[in-house]
Amino acid sequence: MKDPYSVLGVSKSASAEEIKKTYRKLAKKLHPDVNPGDKKSEERFKEVSAAFEVLGDPKKRALFDEFGEVATRPGFDEQKAREWQRQAQAAGGFGGGNPFEGFRGRSGGFDPEDLSSMFGDIFSRRQSGRARRAAAEPAPGDDAEASIEVDLRDAVLGAEREISVNRPARCPECKGSGARPGSKPTTCPQCGGSGEIRTGGFFSTTCPRCNGEGQIRDPCPKCGGAGVVPETARLKVKIPPGVETGSRVRLPGQGAPGERGGEPGDLYLRIAVREHPTVRVHGRDLSLDLPISPEEALAGAEVTAPTFEGAVKLKIPPGSQSGRKLRLRGRGLPALKGGTTGAPRGDLYVVLQIVMPPDSREAREAAAMLQKLYKSDVRKDVVL
Ligand SMILES: [Zn+2]
Ligand SMILES: [Zn+2]
Repeated sequence: MKDPYSVLGVSKSASAEEIKKTYRKLAKKLHPDVNPGDKKSEERFKEVSAAFEVLGDPKKRALFDEFGEVATRPGFDEQKAREWQRQAQAAGGFGGGNPFEGFRGRSGGFDPEDLSSMFGDIFSRRQSGRARRAAAEPAPGDDAEASIEVDLRDAVLGAEREISVNRPARCPECKGSGARPGSKPTTCPQCGGSGEIRTGGFFSTTCPRCNGEGQIRDPCPKCGGAGVVPETARLKVKIPPGVETGSRVRLPGQGAPGERGGEPGDLYLRIAVREHPTVRVHGRDLSLDLPISPEEALAGAEVTAPTFEGAVKLKIPPGSQSGRKLRLRGRGLPALKGGTTGAPRGDLYVVLQIVMPPDSREAREAAAMLQKLYKSDVRKDVVL
């Protein structure tokens, strides 16, 4: 089975929602009903469905992330896998990496029922060892993700922010090669350069010393051979106008560095918009309470209302009640450029709230005059 993340074309950190959306899009495009007789689409449709079967299920996805491809095979036993892993760790593994991988070369300790799945494993490992040696080509870096909280004002107007992200950076000592500068690779003494170790009978396994590459190098003292070192980068980022909670802003080339000269990955900035003390958000529309006086409500008035882009003049029609909504067209959240929704700019609703003057003898006298003017019970329409 192929790596389900690359089959769907999503990053390892993709959300369940994102995976579902990507799968739906691909499935729609590739469905055999849409492409009758197209073998290629059909193959790809099967691949995509198999990938979603793993990644669309939180439990299967977690197992895949932990144990890799082996977790997707029929009869995979999480309990046993953990037991193997524990034993391998107890045995010291094979020098770092996934201890589950390290255990593959050991003989004995498993019952015959497990033999078939173990054999399958060894076989796939051998292939991947060969594949790895063949693939000395550039590999793109991983995408990284960071999150940032912004004010509603920034979401409407856009903003520039400085953030710090922890990400791997190319090791400055070895320039990412992982080898001690000036050292030359030598043939692996454990496997003699084949990348595989015979463990008796049919069995052979990827050489743990050279990881199947057939060569070993003197590791770089700074990064220990990884080719990358952790870095905290300060980045200036532009928040485009129109972001919402859950929006992702892509910063091209700001992810992890590529291998062997490959392109760096991208950094995705996940946006969360802080709640505003007075402005409410409904989709792309905003609403705001605006206090007015009883006279402004009765006689009508021209008042100023605040918007994120400055105050605007607003006509209050005569005879307005509290709760009346006046629309300021196009003063809501802007359309997000390159956004997925393609929603147009929202509106700002100003909700009128009649405010009484402070209590005083005069105020009560004025209110008593108003009281005589109601034609019926003010609460007559409130019926439950
Ligand atoms: Zn290094
Ligand atoms: Zn070797």
